[in-house]
Amino acid sequence: QKPPFVPSATPPTWLGVMGGGQLGRMFVHAAQAMGFKVAVLEPARDCPAGQAADYLLSASYTDPVALNQLAGLCAAVTTEFENVPAQSLAQLAAHSFVAPAAANVSIAQDRVAEKRFFTECAATSHVLPAPHKVIENEADIDAIPDDLFPGILKTARLGYDGKGQVRVRSRDEARKAFQDMRSVVCVLEKMLPLAYEVSVLAARGADGESAVYPIAENVHRDGILFSTTVPGPNVSAECARRAQHAALAIIGKMEYVGVLCIEFFVLQDGSLVVNEMAPRPHNSGHYTIDACITSQFAQQARAMAKLPLGDVRQHSPAVMLNILGDIWFENGSPGSDMPREPAWDKVLALPGANLHLYGKDDPRRGRKMGHVTFVAPTLTEAQENFACACRILG
Ligand code: ADP
Ligand code: MG
Repeated sequence: QKPPFVPSATPPTWLGVMGGGQLGRMFVHAAQAMGFKVAVLEPARDCPAGQAADYLLSASYTDPVALNQLAGLCAAVTTEFENVPAQSLAQLAAHSFVAPAAANVSIAQDRVAEKRFFTECAATSHVLPAPHKVIENEADIDAIPDDLFPGILKTARLGYDGKGQVRVRSRDEARKAFQDMRSVVCVLEKMLPLAYEVSVLAARGADGESAVYPIAENVHRDGILFSTTVPGPNVSAECARRAQHAALAIIGKMEYVGVLCIEFFVLQDGSLVVNEMAPRPHNSGHYTIDACITSQFAQQARAMAKLPLGDVRQHSPAVMLNILGDIWFENGSPGSDMPREPAWDKVLALPGANLHLYGKDDPRRGRKMGHVTFVAPTLTEAQENFACACRILG
């Protein structure tokens, strides 16, 4: 049945978030700055978003009592954690406005559904996913067309930051990798000749209005986002226009409400391929906090509260550097596994530095601990300060 009409929620009402990570924390900060109160549902007791929230519900994502409590307290609920069970979002939706909706989140949770959906959108988005084949069993591996090798075998569900994927040169390697993944449903994707990678953040309000942020150019290291530069030094106006058009077509087709990030590959021949989407604010959109009129987190609060979308224009060129737990070790004495706090005083002495740490007290390799965004009147100046920070942090 249709949920009852929900009017827009204005501060100081409560907004809710499923998930207590850094995306939730930055959402809490943005929503609180507007005067909302924010409740977080997250199993862990000490978590980045919980430290900032007005109320932390420590419970499993499927706990029916906690879900009812969250929906009862909050006018609207969103998610910061991509793998929150779609079923839980559906349950919340019986009592509260949920954005993005369970149906949208479940497409993004499954590479098979996601690629099928992108293909369905192609008539209006004018972009396709990488050539691929769904692998459910050994027979599917035998049937992979030869021209998909070399390829990447990716688990359909639960992959992130390059986890859950293996590069395979041949059918035999694909077979072995599939067995190593315990034969869970996978997608084998052709390895493409990437020139560079970009992402586009789009937002859509409950009234159907949508907006798209400037395109971001991303550099990954070991499958994890390393830096985001906006405007991207490689991005042509034509590429930006095509990616933004595609993002708007995709968000519109889903009748999505909230912030959505879509990752694209730009190939060496200049063509654009749609890779994946995240049904939430995204690491590559952190630059919006310091460089755009409305941050991706404030935008999410506006969209879920059914308020007008904010201005997506960028006011300063920006370079964002992700801060991983590794630098707590590599800058310490060689060979030591005692973590040492990085030189934040030196980083903050650089012009245009905006430091964001997520309140995680145990640095680990590959763990996202924070980010720093450099803004400046010119991109060159932002890039120079970014380069200095890379040297300081090692
Ligand atoms: P994750 O969910 O881990 O972000 P992605 O599908 O985005 O998974 O893959 C992570 C990174 O691996 C991409 O950002 C890109 O650098 C590389 N990659 C993924 N698929 C391909 C491909 N088909 N061809 C070339 N590189 C790829
Ligand atoms: Mg990715």
